[in-house]
Amino acid sequence: MRQTETHTELSFDKALEGWLAHIERLDPEIVAFSKALGRILARDLHSDIDVSPFDNSAMDGFALRSDDITFATKGSPVDLEVITCIAAGDYWEGELQSGQVARIMTGAPIPTGADTVVKAEDTMPLPCAADSKIDIVRFSLPSPKGFNIRLKGEEIEAGECVLKQGECLSPAAIGLLAATGNAQVPVYRQPVVGIISTGEELIPVTELPVRGKIRNTNSHSLAAQAQAAGAKVQQYENISDTLDDTMAAFKKASAECDLIISSGGVSVGDFDFVERAVRQMGDLHFTSVKMRPGKPQTTGTIGGTPFFGLPGNPASAYLGFELFIRPAILKMAGHTLLRRPVQSAVLEHDIKKRLGLRYFMRGEVDLVDGQAVVRLVGNQSSALLSSLHKANCLLVLPEEKTQLNAGCTIDCIRLDIEEGVKV
Ligand code: AMP
Ligand code: MG
Repeated sequence: MRQTETHTELSFDKALEGWLAHIERLDPEIVAFSKALGRILARDLHSDIDVSPFDNSAMDGFALRSDDITFATKGSPVDLEVITCIAAGDYWEGELQSGQVARIMTGAPIPTGADTVVKAEDTMPLPCAADSKIDIVRFSLPSPKGFNIRLKGEEIEAGECVLKQGECLSPAAIGLLAATGNAQVPVYRQPVVGIISTGEELIPVTELPVRGKIRNTNSHSLAAQAQAAGAKVQQYENISDTLDDTMAAFKKASAECDLIISSGGVSVGDFDFVERAVRQMGDLHFTSVKMRPGKPQTTGTIGGTPFFGLPGNPASAYLGFELFIRPAILKMAGHTLLRRPVQSAVLEHDIKKRLGLRYFMRGEVDLVDGQAVVRLVGNQSSALLSSLHKANCLLVLPEEKTQLNAGCTIDCIRLDIEEGVKV
């Protein structure tokens, strides 16, 4: 049996802080605005025009002079002549005189001379003789100046800042970029995350396991997690449990990726080579964190590229990603809010734990009579993923506790809510 190497065991907080200190925001790139959803702006953007570019109608109805109908009532209506019809996208060159109205559609430019719009439902067309060229409409209510008119520049004025550096582009922001002529936008680059699974036992999803083999789960859950965090994924072939193969895969990935993740091979088994490979190829930062699940977490830098070796057990790998790698991807992509919301909730049942480790247990938090309550969900084995699929939070159980009793309040990391959202 080979000798176990010295392990640097850190508290969870120190490990996370140290890991994130090595992670840097990536450089900006220019992308088409329509491809920029969820990206972080690298500089302030301005509008090239007033939005809207002209005063326009908020209703389908009639544009007119407010003074013409100041005294209109049901008993004493005012009848005015319709002299034109302006559709959205049209423009009427004339000037509306007193006694005249323009039929106007939502979004059409307000004609010169008009200062109010009465919606069609509040008017009545008057029947005219079949051969009449005159079109008359009846008004029974006054309409104040400016009513139903959306002003030029109401959204943004020409030259005004639309979105600021550091803002995350929401679907609404994509619309604003379109309105303001920002066809190409500078955003921080999405990290390319290389994913490498180690293990002789791994076979693809399309094969049926023969004796001793299992399907590779981690490459796929980790790739999905990386995509959900906004990264681009570079998936590598599984590697066998040899030092040479491990080093060759890490070398390739360090040349092609901004961040390398591996799964498996980080423990003290005879065929665990990740730590040795990192030691030989680059700088090893830490190899063990006082947490459960997923104590063996191996981090370092290979050829200048940050490296994170996750444990092989699927739930440990998943949680290690969630707690360490997701914030790193967000930081690289320019985000500044890196923590999922933490909610206080009342524990529904007792939980026992080991002293000295921080536990992250899969749970379900909900509101009962206005009070957040939480319970464990499913089997907590580090090998099993179904409970993670069901969970909406991680119960955070502190290092110094050995028992948590029903009724106590604990912190729950909300897995279903994005970073920066208040709960
Ligand atoms: P290791 O960390 O390599 O000792 O692996 C710990 C456990 O996780 C073993 O039962 C492995 O078979 C399993 N495991 C490792 N890698 C994967 C993977 N990519 N997908 C599913 N299970 C895995
Ligand atoms: Mg292994």
